[in-house]
Amino acid sequence: MPVAQPASPSYLILGAGLAGLSLADALLRRGVRDPIAVVDARERFDNDRTWCFWDVHPHPYRGLISHRWPHWSIEARGAVHRQTATGAPYCHLPADRFYADVLARLEAAPNCQLVLGTTIGAATESDGAVMVATSAGERSATHVFDALATGGPTWPTVAPVPGPGVLCQRFLGQFVETDEPAFDPTCVRLMDFDVTPNGELHFMYLLPFSPTSALVEDTTIGLVGTPDDERRAEIDRYLRKRHGLATWRVVREEASAIPMLGVGAPRRRSSRLTPVGTAAGAVRPSSGYAFVRTQRQVAALADRVVAGRPSAPRIDRRRDAFLDRVFLEVLKADPAGFAPNFLRLGRHLAGDRLARFMMDAASPVDHFLLIAALPKPPFLLGAARAGRKRLAA
Ligand SMILES: Cc1cc2nc3c(=O)[nH]c(=O)nc-3n(C[C@H](O)[C@H](O)[C@H](O)COP(=O)(O)OP(=O)(O)OC[C@H]3O[C@@H](n4cnc5c(N)ncnc54)[C@H](O)[C@@H]3O)c2cc1C
Repeated sequence: MPVAQPASPSYLILGAGLAGLSLADALLRRGVRDPIAVVDARERFDNDRTWCFWDVHPHPYRGLISHRWPHWSIEARGAVHRQTATGAPYCHLPADRFYADVLARLEAAPNCQLVLGTTIGAATESDGAVMVATSAGERSATHVFDALATGGPTWPTVAPVPGPGVLCQRFLGQFVETDEPAFDPTCVRLMDFDVTPNGELHFMYLLPFSPTSALVEDTTIGLVGTPDDERRAEIDRYLRKRHGLATWRVVREEASAIPMLGVGAPRRRSSRLTPVGTAAGAVRPSSGYAFVRTQRQVAALADRVVAGRPSAPRIDRRRDAFLDRVFLEVLKADPAGFAPNFLRLGRHLAGDRLARFMMDAASPVDHFLLIAALPKPPFLLGAARAGRKRLAA
């Protein structure tokens, strides 16, 4: 009787965003010569997002960083807590640089195919392959990776799609230019709580690219968010009142809702359909930072693919994950009342310590000092709630 030969591997990556492109690139960098297809609904790649992070972990895209800031601040009316990250500056990597860099390598690889303008639907597994329905017909591969963020087949199995009632970081940012110097280009304003209260955790985030240009982002963390026009009006008010500006030009805008759900490490559901990126918990639940976590996750996943056992690895340490759950519990209980906690961190935690905490690299001493800086009663209650939920899960 003839023995069925195992199909030679083929890789289908759903989504050509941060995680999908990084994974294709990582497989090529590791010498994978089997067919790789990357499919996405988008028609083109614009400068559609601003990736920022502290430069704590190495990754292949460090050379694309366009700005590094040594200082950051957390502010409120009458309080400015300014810190310096000596070992790990705050960095900006523009999306268009990343897309251009990775796409050039994908296009040059004979085994890699990029399929755009194609919407992806359901995925089903049978006979050693995964079939994926798309607007251009069915595609199949021996291994499929869901890098569709919250729009793919694996997301609904772990969390609700972001919308009203789902805890999200929601923001609208404007890239502005002024005629006169208005910004300090050495210091990122991570959070300025000198904004109109709106029932959520509400702050302004300001990335100064030069004395005359900046990204000013109206940000809320909560269950609902505010309409875009209200956010524009708030940025207008902020630039007038806080920076004394009368006129400026808005060059472009970016906006999003990033889920803060503590999706966590993906459970291994299938050896052939593997989530990666947002779909696999790459967004840090308590902060929304995802770029570096995605790179760490992709690197480990690509290593596993090459070793013949593709599965998305756990990227957060247990104590980071627990602290994040506690943060989220306290935040959910009273989003608008959370600002003083960030102000305490801004005041008491040295720049490098906060950088390590935000990038999942905090030492036990960093964690101890972080806990020492926070008020005990709400966080102990949060810890009890987080622990109870963990036990019930
Ligand atoms: C404006 C903005 C700013 C951000 N800033 C930062 C930051 O400063 N630092 C940080 O660490 N993180 C930041 N993030 C969060 C995070 O890094 C990004 O969201 C990141 O792009 C997530 O990567 P991903 O690959 O999971 O999803 P994405 O990069 O969003 O990729 C998902 C892809 O799937 C495609 N897609 C979705 N559904 C379908 C479908 N049904 N069919 C076909 N294609 C589909 C989309 O077109 C997209 O290309 C930001 C996000 C946004 C939106």
